[in-house]
Amino acid sequence: MNDAGFSAGRVLRGPVVSFLNDPGEGDSPEPGSLLHLQDGAIWLVDGRIQAIGDYAEVAPRLPAGIEMVDYAGKLMMPGFIDSHVHYVQLDIMASYGRQLLDWLNEYTFPEECRFAERAHAENVAEAFLDEQLRVGTTTAQVFCTSHPVSVDTFFAAARRRGLRMLAGKVLMDRHAPAALTDSGERDSERLIGDWHGKDRLGYTLTPRFAPTSTPAQLDTVGGILRTAPDLHLQTHLSENKGEIDWVAELFPDCRDYLGVYERYGLVGPRSTFAHGIHLDQPMRNRLAAAGANIAFCPTSNLFLGSGLFDRLACRDAGLNTTLASDVGGGTDLSGLATLKAAYQVGQLLGQPLTAWQGFYRLTLGNARALHLDTHIGSLRQGKEADIVVLDPAATPLLARRSARTRNLAEQLFALMMLGDDRSVYATWANGECVHQRDAASTP
Ligand SMILES: [Zn+2]
Repeated sequence: MNDAGFSAGRVLRGPVVSFLNDPGEGDSPEPGSLLHLQDGAIWLVDGRIQAIGDYAEVAPRLPAGIEMVDYAGKLMMPGFIDSHVHYVQLDIMASYGRQLLDWLNEYTFPEECRFAERAHAENVAEAFLDEQLRVGTTTAQVFCTSHPVSVDTFFAAARRRGLRMLAGKVLMDRHAPAALTDSGERDSERLIGDWHGKDRLGYTLTPRFAPTSTPAQLDTVGGILRTAPDLHLQTHLSENKGEIDWVAELFPDCRDYLGVYERYGLVGPRSTFAHGIHLDQPMRNRLAAAGANIAFCPTSNLFLGSGLFDRLACRDAGLNTTLASDVGGGTDLSGLATLKAAYQVGQLLGQPLTAWQGFYRLTLGNARALHLDTHIGSLRQGKEADIVVLDPAATPLLARRSARTRNLAEQLFALMMLGDDRSVYATWANGECVHQRDAASTP
């Protein structure tokens, strides 16, 4: 905001819910962890939150005639964050009847081969981002394929829309079709140079998982990370018993699956390990000590039959858990659907997820674990203006249920269990409305 370029911005008025800290596991949020405004105002200027507070308190500071958007009866929250998703698997969601390793060979690898073509990559990238915004997700950490063009097209599409996104080229140099394997070093360096830190984009080093990389490739990734510690890293860990046995055969001198990633320097504070279902407590402790996070992907874990994620064992270890869709193994891009499945998995383990903890994880919790919380994850002055506007009366059924709720906890829980894409009334990113549910048509 300089004098020449000053714009008054606009104000979103309505109920606001934003976490300021971890609300804990109790029925009530920890004191000071929640901002809840019944009649709030969020003043957006140049993509950021210029001011936020009760409308009555903010109103006297607003420029005369400023544009006002009325969200009475809705609920404004920070844009949702998805810590692990494969945009290139959008079109193989809901492919029948396989567990992880067969799933990869039968569905994933043939589909990923199509991303050598720019036109296909562009088509899927746009469709994926449309869908993400339709479900209120404004930031994701994304697997592309091994084709550099799959990364270029994704970042270009995200940048045009003003989104904060993390993504990277998949690295595989064995145990996958020849069309998907390469050393990947030079391409990764070129992509990092072209995209990392450009506007709101960040690069994530992306070895698929230990079985599809040789020790030499993992060593190269560790080398890149050592020289550029502000990069993120994403991979998979301990999702499926067959996968774990295979890793033990391929890396017989590593102490366990996590030990492979440790050996090559891939376990750090910006590392996300998807799944982590079959871990023992010492492994959780080692991940926690490194500051890494596990991406809990409940719809994927149920769909692929991988197992039940022990969220509280991670919490006991002080290990960050993020929430993720893992589409296309996951069955829904929606953060609300992810929360619903996370609750159901928790029920089977006797560790139900409160709405407070769920929505915290989907917003500030994910932002903190991904080291993005200086920018996003909470609605506070100076933060980037990524906002989801939820509609507690989106469907006749939800309207009936919401009418019965007696407090915010019940309202949030009803949204988490009964909500879906129709519950997302609008999505804002970088201070602009990027999705409007009731818009007549998209341009
Ligand atoms: Zn995955």
